[in-house]
Amino acid sequence: DNSLNVKVAVRVRPMNRREKDLKTKCVVEMEGNQTVLHPAVANMNKGDPRYVFAFDHCFWSMDESQKDKFAGQDVVFQCLGESLLDNAFMGYNACIFAYGQTGSGKSYTMMGSAENPGLIPRLCSSLFSRTVQEVREGESFTVEVSYMEIYNEKVRDLLDPKGNRQTLRVREHKVFGPYVDGLSRLAVASYKDIESLMSEGNKSRTVAATNMNEESSRSHAVFNIILTHTLMDLQSGTSGEKVSKLSLVDLAGSERAAKTGAAGDRLKEGSNINKSLSTLGLVISALADQGAGKNRNKFVPYRDSVLTWLLKDSLGGNSRTAMVATISPAADNYDETLSALRYADRAKSIVNHAVVNEDPNA
Ligand code: ADP
Ligand code: MG
Repeated sequence: DNSLNVKVAVRVRPMNRREKDLKTKCVVEMEGNQTVLHPAVANMNKGDPRYVFAFDHCFWSMDESQKDKFAGQDVVFQCLGESLLDNAFMGYNACIFAYGQTGSGKSYTMMGSAENPGLIPRLCSSLFSRTVQEVREGESFTVEVSYMEIYNEKVRDLLDPKGNRQTLRVREHKVFGPYVDGLSRLAVASYKDIESLMSEGNKSRTVAATNMNEESSRSHAVFNIILTHTLMDLQSGTSGEKVSKLSLVDLAGSERAAKTGAAGDRLKEGSNINKSLSTLGLVISALADQGAGKNRNKFVPYRDSVLTWLLKDSLGGNSRTAMVATISPAADNYDETLSALRYADRAKSIVNHAVVNEDPNA
C-alpha cells in the first residue's frame, strides 16, 4: 500500500541571547514522541492550559548540554532526510516543508550554516554519494536543481543565470501537473556545484530586499532537486527512466497567517502572503478531513494560491511528505507556539498516495 500519512516533526530551538538575558521561562518539554506546552503564566485563574501533542518526531534542540536528548542537524537529517533519499532512489517524489513563526529555526533546519549544515546541503551531498554507489552498468543518474521564491503571490527565479528579476507564471501540464514556466533548471555534477548556485541564489534573494529578515519572513523559498535515473536494457537496446522530485520548502513566517498589513503596499503584501499561507491551512484542513474519513469528497482549494498549486503533488498527492514545525521554547511565544503545534497536529491526518514515476518509453 502506497498510502502514507504526512510525517510530522516538531523542533524546538535554543533560547536566543535576548531570551537568555531576560531569563525567559522555557514552556516546552519533550519526552519521546510527545511535546508538552506548559502555561506561560503561573496564575491559575487566567493561566493558559497545558497541552500535550504526539508527533512522529520531537527534536529537542534547546539545550546542547543534554547529550542524551539533544537533536542536532545530524539527527534531524537521519530521521527525515535519509528515508526521503531512499524514496527518491525508488522513484518517488518527496517533500519537506518547514513551518513556524519568524525566528523559530525554519532556515536553520532547512539550510543551516557553514558549520552546522541543514537538511538541504546534507541531502545534496548524500544524494551525490549515492548516485556514485548505486550506479550500475548501463545506468546513469542526472541531478538538476531549481530554486525559487514566492513573494506576494509572484514567483521569482533565484538561479536565473542572467540575474533576471522578472516574475514567472505557474501553469499546469496535463500529465506532469503544475510547473513554473521559464524557471531555470540547472544540471549539477557535484555538491560543490549546488553550493555555489545556492549562494548565488541566496545573494539574489538578499539584493532585492532592504532588510533580509523582513524579506525572508514574508516569502516562501522552494528548492527543488530532480533526480533522473536512466536504465538501459543492454539486450534489447531500449531505455527507460525514473524521475523523482524533492521539494524543500522554507515557508514564510507563520505569524503572517494571522496578521494583516498596515496600509497600501504593505496591506497588499500582507494579504497576499496571507493568501498562500492561509490557503495552505485550508488545504491541510480539507486533506486532514479526507484522511480522517470525515469527508472523502471535500473540495481542496489547491488553485487558490501559488504555493498550494505548486505543492499540490506534495500535499495529498503523489509524494512522500514531511513537515517540520519549528518552535521557540520561550514563554512569551506561547500563543504562536500553540498555533504552530495545532497546525502540525492537523497535518498528521493527511494521507498521500505515492507512485513511482516510471516511464518505460522515455
Ligand atoms: P526562521 O527561518 O524561522 O526565521 P532562523 O532559522 O533564521 O529562523 O533562526 C533564527 C535564529 O536562531 C538564527 O540565528 C539561528 O541560527 C538560530 N537557530 C534556530 N534554530 C536553531 C537550532 N536548532 N540550533 C541552534 N540555533 C538555532
Ligand atoms: Mg528564515
